[in-house]
Amino acid sequence: MTGPAGAGATATEKAAAPLPVPDRLTEPFWEHARAGRLAFQHCDSCRAYQHPPGPVCRACYARDLTFQPVSGRGRVYTYTVTHHRVVPGFDEAPYAVALVEMEEQEGLRMLANIRELPPSGVHVGLEVEVLFEALPNGLALPQFRPRR
Ligand code: ZN
Repeated sequence: MTGPAGAGATATEKAAAPLPVPDRLTEPFWEHARAGRLAFQHCDSCRAYQHPPGPVCRACYARDLTFQPVSGRGRVYTYTVTHHRVVPGFDEAPYAVALVEMEEQEGLRMLANIRELPPSGVHVGLEVEVLFEALPNGLALPQFRPRR
């Protein structure tokens, strides 16, 4: 039998943000991140990078893909600022979510938060660099901050 005291205790616990779960395709991405490197899938046939990872190259359909470290530098391609706390575990609103285009290749973009800058300071074209945040499951999450 569950009483009101139990329900109250559950309601006051802070929800944790969901954690990444590496799979066969994404495992190398997370292993590089854990080592402090941002790496993307690279096609050894046409030399295109792609993200997120896939089973074949999206440019030429080759299967010879390897993960190659990149500079970690890019620019904000577009962004949004979340003001409402609607997703459990993401309680630090407002925060900026940006699509960052990497300097290595036009169209090579990844989604991340912008750290070390108030959301009001984020703008399209902002030069950023990667940083890594330790996660409770031992992984490291690539995020971005203004370039130093
Ligand atoms: Zn290719």
